[in-house]
Formats: sequence, structure tokens, C-alpha cells
Amino acid sequence: MMPKEMLESLLKGCFRLSKFCQTTVLPHSRMNRLGPWLFLLEMFCLCYIGSVEIIPKLWTRYGPNLVLMNQAFTWFLGMEILMNWLCVRFVTSSYQPDLAQIQLLKLDDRSQQYTDYTKSFVEENLRHRKPAENNRSASRGYFTWSTCKSCKKVRPARCHHCSICKTCVLARDHHCFFSGNCVGYKNLRHFFVFLFYSMYATVYAFIHATAFYYLELWPRTIVLEIIPFVTFLRNLFGQGEYHTGVLILVWWALGIFLIIGAFQFIDLLLEIPEGVTSYEFNCGIELEDSRSLTEKIRAVFGKYWLLNFLVPVHFIFPPIVDPVNWPTISGIKRAPDEFL
Ligand SMILES: [Zn+2]
Ligand SMILES: [Zn+2]
Repeated sequence: MMPKEMLESLLKGCFRLSKFCQTTVLPHSRMNRLGPWLFLLEMFCLCYIGSVEIIPKLWTRYGPNLVLMNQAFTWFLGMEILMNWLCVRFVTSSYQPDLAQIQLLKLDDRSQQYTDYTKSFVEENLRHRKPAENNRSASRGYFTWSTCKSCKKVRPARCHHCSICKTCVLARDHHCFFSGNCVGYKNLRHFFVFLFYSMYATVYAFIHATAFYYLELWPRTIVLEIIPFVTFLRNLFGQGEYHTGVLILVWWALGIFLIIGAFQFIDLLLEIPEGVTSYEFNCGIELEDSRSLTEKIRAVFGKYWLLNFLVPVHFIFPPIVDPVNWPTISGIKRAPDEFL
């Protein structure tokens, strides 16, 4: 068989396997239930193993202060990740076509104009249950008001239905299985900060785990123990050490999380300055948007964006954006044919 054919059949096999896993072993609904628990378990295990087992062994030789500093830093990262994870999970961007929705649009002076516009538009929309004729976004194609086939409600442009959350989400970015909730215009900032600290913590933990393995465990293990299955078998038959088994599993979990998280984080770093969602970014949709870079950043993080990296300030400084009318967007600049 030619290498190209072999590669193709290998890819087809992988695709079938992932389809099988998705439909029978781990369908989306089950993944959504398991994901948050797996995440919490992994996070608490990492914080505990890191601060109780690994840090004291690696840093004691440099003095007790450095041990304490590293332990405190580990728990600081853990707390930041947990706080933002809770916000991603419980702050919803679901579209509720009533006046309560626009209460969230109490923004700065410029946005106040949007609020008035939104209020009249939503009232109009509620009365007629259809997009207003004069709405500039009610044009054609992707950037338009439409009726959701599942919820049967009229929804604004860039609002998409999530079959797992069973609701339409404003400026839907994607569904996060680790938190079990959709990421939309309200909780995108928390997802960003959550990923930022998760990536930082993963690299920090990976360096510590590697140093610990090399200095403490390497002399007592065999090379094949790097494969979790071998470690498991050796543990089962009482040959390997319990610590090695746990550490190898942690190592692999960190590596997998680092790869998945890095892709997602790079995606966010590229899409936020463009003012698009992950969905639009990955579909190759570009919008005619008059906002500056600062306005696009404020549309995600609100005022004083840096504060979000210390405490979640969503309720004090909401995103400066009108997620219903998108007054700064005049249309589509570029998109594949099916969206036009
Ligand atoms: Zn819907
Ligand atoms: Zn969802």
C-alpha cells in the first residue's frame, strides 16, 4: 500500500473511532455531565499533589520561604482558575427577548445611545414577533434576524442555538464541556481569563512534574513506565511505585490539557482583536465593523479589562457592546458562499 493510501485509511479509521466514541461511548450529553467533574477533580488533585508532594521536595534545599511562596502561588493559580470556571459555568449569555435583557446594557455614554435604540427595538420586536423592517441587520444571509427552529423564537444576528444548553446564545462562541455551559458575549471574558491561568498553571506544573520525575523518580523507574498502561500494570503487580504511577498520569493529563488549551487560547487571541466569535473565525466570516481595537477589547472585558485578571468584575463592569443590534456592524466583509 502507498504511504498516501495508508495515511488516508489511518485518518478514516481515526475519524470512525472518534464518531463511535461521540455517539456511543461519550455522547455530548454525557460529556457535558462528566466534563465539569473531571475538571474539578483534576484541578484539586494537581493543587494538592503540587503543593503537598512536589514543591516541598523540590524547593526545600533553597529554604522554607521559597517553599511557602511556591505553595501560595499554586493555590493563587487554583483560586483564579476556579473563580473564572464558576463564572463560565453560571453566567449565561442566553437570549431572553424581554426588557430584562437590556438592563445589562447600562454602559458608558456612547453605549447609552445603543440602550435607547435597543429598548425601542425590543419593544417593537415583542409586539410583532418578527424583525423590524428598518433594522439594518435584517438584510440577508448570515448577518440577519432569524427564527430559531428549536426554540421557535425570533433571535438577533450572531445569536445561535446550542443543542446541549437547549437555548439560543447571544454572540455564541462555542460550548465548553469542561464547564458544561455555552460561552457567549457575557462569559467570554471569564473563559479567556480561565484559559490564561490554566495555560500558565499547566506550564508551571509541567516543569515541576518533569523536574520531580528527573530528580526523584528517574533512578528508581524503568523507561517504559512513561506509558501509563505499563505503570498501571507494574502498580497492579506490586512492582512499580504508587507515586510514579500518579505522576505519570498527571504528566499525561497536563500534556493533553496543554495541547487542547493552547489551540483554544490562540484562537481567542486571534478572534478578539478581529471582533468575531470562534464560530465566525473558524468559518472564515469577516464583518464590516467600525469599532477600534480598544472598543473590541471592551466589548469582551468591559472597562478596566486588567481587573478581570484579579477578580471577576462582570457585574460591576459589563461588556460594552449591544449584543442584540450590533450598531457598529454594517454587514459582512467576507464569508463563504453559504453564509451570503
Ligand atoms: Zn434556539
Ligand atoms: Zn451550550
